Amino acid sequence: MNIHEYQAKAVLASYGVAVPQGKVAFTVEEAVEAAKELGGKAVVKAQIHAGGRGKAGGVKLAKSLQEVEQHARELLGKTLVTHQTGPEGKVVKRLLIEQLSNIQKEYYIGLVVDRNTGRVVMMASGEGGMEIEEVAAKTPEKIFRATIDPAVGLLPYQARQLAYSIGIPNELVKKAAQFMTALYHCFVDKDCSVAEINPLVVTAEGDVMALDAKLNFDDNALYRHPEILELRDLDEEDPKEIEASKYGLNYIALDGNIGCMVNGAGLAMATMDTIKYYGGEPANFLDVGGGASEEKVTEAFKIILSDPKVKGILVNIFGGIMKCDVIASGVVAAARQVGLDKPLVVRLEGTNVEQGKKILNESGLNIIAADSLADAAQRIVSLV
Ligand code: ADP
Ligand code: MG
Repeated sequence: MNIHEYQAKAVLASYGVAVPQGKVAFTVEEAVEAAKELGGKAVVKAQIHAGGRGKAGGVKLAKSLQEVEQHARELLGKTLVTHQTGPEGKVVKRLLIEQLSNIQKEYYIGLVVDRNTGRVVMMASGEGGMEIEEVAAKTPEKIFRATIDPAVGLLPYQARQLAYSIGIPNELVKKAAQFMTALYHCFVDKDCSVAEINPLVVTAEGDVMALDAKLNFDDNALYRHPEILELRDLDEEDPKEIEASKYGLNYIALDGNIGCMVNGAGLAMATMDTIKYYGGEPANFLDVGGGASEEKVTEAFKIILSDPKVKGILVNIFGGIMKCDVIASGVVAAARQVGLDKPLVVRLEGTNVEQGKKILNESGLNIIAADSLADAAQRIVSLV
């Protein structure tokens, strides 16, 4: 799960991570009020779940309340297109009104779970404010790393070493190390999957603080953090994915035109691979789970069909715990209920597969029963 910058800054501040003073605003009036508290000068920052706002005109410096008002009016309701939003962009509904910092230099600090070492790694760079992917590609030597032993956490020497490596001024190394330690505590405590501070800044007043903050949380750990779950902004999520989560369906929207309904995440991945192998493009990843009931299958159909890009559906179900005839009945009932008018290829395998195929063939619906995954994928690819 992703949250907004202003929310991430509040979470970070509760761990002692230094952040500028600021306030969220949903209206122009609230923006002006918030700027008054900051003495009139402020930065007006669009709050969307995507980075690259600065370059896209989503971060505006205001030297007076009039300018705050002007920027707030312009940004609220605007569709911001950044390199992270995709061409459709995101509508700005909230602003962060923040104290204007006297930036002396921008740095980068990130925390991720490194799958190779199975540990949390802190990355730091003196190339702040830039896209870290670009730094990694062009000048990888400018990124420094510390692998953190979970038994002892980020050690003070590791933090100091990173701070020196990226060129934090000597007199501020202690502050930077404290910043990193607090960031690490927050990361572990809240079960984050990513924490990215880009930029971390050193100011003219000698402060070391987070000017931007991105926190992602491990969805599987959210049950432990109801306070984080409250920060969820459904406006920022795909409505199809929200609907799917209500029914315990694992659904992820993709760009293709072949809707997929599969039981089991591994089989779902294999199905998408096979579709691509035969030259098609999956419209989604969907795992309906092991015990897919008729209701679940119906909901899954509705969600797949609500995507206007979908030109056909491939159902690939292995009847292990569930029997194929039960699944076939579910598919037929769901297809009837939603009034399916697009090609539907079904591949069933497992217990009672013959009865299952019979049900599909005798349904009177335009359902194509396939013999194998390769056969099914080829058929749906040629039909769309
Ligand atoms: P994004 O990463 O989405 O572009 P940032 O929050 O990193 O958004 O802001 C982009 C740039 O705007 C920063 O690199 C910084 O130079 C400037 N900026 C952001 N917040 C402030 C602030 N409070 N004071 C001064 N400059 C800021
Ligand atoms: Mg940034």
